[in-house]
Amino acid sequence: MNHAESVEALIDRERLKNLLIELIKIDSLSRKEYDVAMRLKREMEALGASVTIDDAGHKAGGNVGNVVAHFSGNVPEVEPLLLSAHMDTVVPGEGIVPILDGNILRTDGRTVLGGDDKSGVAIICEVLRVIRENRLPCGDIDVVFTICEEAGLIGAKCLDVSLLRARTGLVLDSDSVGFLFTKAPAANRMEFRVHGLEAHAGVCPERGINAIKVAAEGIAEMRLGRIDHETTANLGVVEGGMAVNIVPNRVILRGEARSHDEDKLVRQTEHMRQCLEKAAARHALELDGKRYRARVEASIERDYDRMDVPDGAPIVRLVHAAASRLDLEVKTLATGGGCDANIFNRKGLVVANLSTGMRDIHTVNEWLDLRDLYMSAQIVLGVLRLHAASAARGT
Ligand SMILES: [Zn+2]
Repeated sequence: MNHAESVEALIDRERLKNLLIELIKIDSLSRKEYDVAMRLKREMEALGASVTIDDAGHKAGGNVGNVVAHFSGNVPEVEPLLLSAHMDTVVPGEGIVPILDGNILRTDGRTVLGGDDKSGVAIICEVLRVIRENRLPCGDIDVVFTICEEAGLIGAKCLDVSLLRARTGLVLDSDSVGFLFTKAPAANRMEFRVHGLEAHAGVCPERGINAIKVAAEGIAEMRLGRIDHETTANLGVVEGGMAVNIVPNRVILRGEARSHDEDKLVRQTEHMRQCLEKAAARHALELDGKRYRARVEASIERDYDRMDVPDGAPIVRLVHAAASRLDLEVKTLATGGGCDANIFNRKGLVVANLSTGMRDIHTVNEWLDLRDLYMSAQIVLGVLRLHAASAARGT
């Protein structure tokens, strides 16, 4: 066994597993992360970090903010690194009962496991503990445990990155074992209000414009689902109509589009809007000398921006190098989802997202293979070690 392997073997599997289970048992739905945040603040302070809790909780309407911890390294010439994971979990996620069966951690089937993203949180704690205990050479580390990732990346969006010294690093929040996510799509969230004209459906339907029909015609023309290899679109919510005897005057449609290509995202979003507008343009009537037209009000919001970390970025190279020393291969990949890393990248950092072992997330069947968790922790420790060593060599 060479030196590198022996260092990565310092990851204490039992301790990591126990911390993960302890964290999973602390309820932390989005906006209710206080208890787990306090536990992690204690953990970070015990490891010698200076910890602040920002005001993101205030902005998010939650009971605590992001936990930001600064670790001082002992290799000052090395560039600081960021390690981040989110503290909140999705529903149903209260009173989680983790069940350990060999190396597989799952639930009793009533709740999610919350390995998303307690696994990332636990890995960060264990890696820092190993570094501290063994006084390993390491640069400065900034740790961010975010709130409300699952509620729309709110914690990361509210984070003031000037609190951070690091400009590059890793988010640990992915369910694709063996992959490093470096690319993610930009997403638009849309709401369309289709306006018709109200009338009595039995007495004078000719005095009405049926907004449901207008919307339906527009939707029928719309390209939805998988548009191409890097673009998707969906309408997920339809609301409208008041009673069967009223020609409905309003329908609300909510949907989204995502693409790794900014131009395609703009085109798809515009396509969806135009389908509805063209349908609306076909519906008009003259009433008592006045002209009425169906119309569409669109509100389109950027949900998150594209993430595009180059394959040659130092953080990506470090992960590859750390993995190959463990005889593992970590492939870079594009994801269809959004995570805190999207936001960090938008704010000017270079951050990739490494898998942690969590699987079937956002379902009550969520599970995690502890061997993947240990592997991920070893890779992260390896990244910190290689990073410190490169500075020591002056490369
Ligand atoms: Zn997550």
